[in-house]
Amino acid sequence: MKERICKKCGFTNDTNAFYCQKCGTHLSNKGIKNFVKSLKLGSVAGGGAKGVSIAPIAGMEVDKMSGSAQSFKSVRKSYSLEDGSWYCPYCGKKNKEHAVECGDCGKAKPHD
Ligand SMILES: [Zn+2]
Ligand SMILES: [Zn+2]
Repeated sequence: MKERICKKCGFTNDTNAFYCQKCGTHLSNKGIKNFVKSLKLGSVAGGGAKGVSIAPIAGMEVDKMSGSAQSFKSVRKSYSLEDGSWYCPYCGKKNKEHAVECGDCGKAKPHD
């Protein structure tokens, strides 16, 4: 623990002194002030951290987006159903087996 140097008179007090042994200034205030100061600095840093913490959330959003994009891709890959009907990869409409083009958007049935 640091020696409690009086802010007012510069007297070096015992580490456990709460008041300056020379002038009677409340020494613990200094410590508390410094503590509060460090807390304020911490909260400022926390503000920065808050800004940083948004990044992972944004990253999650990107992951979600890319995840949905991936699932959309996988849907596109398996547009043909077992009964021969197929999902339009462009608009998502389910078309019948004999349909050569999408009944909704008119796009040709894609080949595997
Ligand atoms: Zn003093
Ligand atoms: Zn379509």
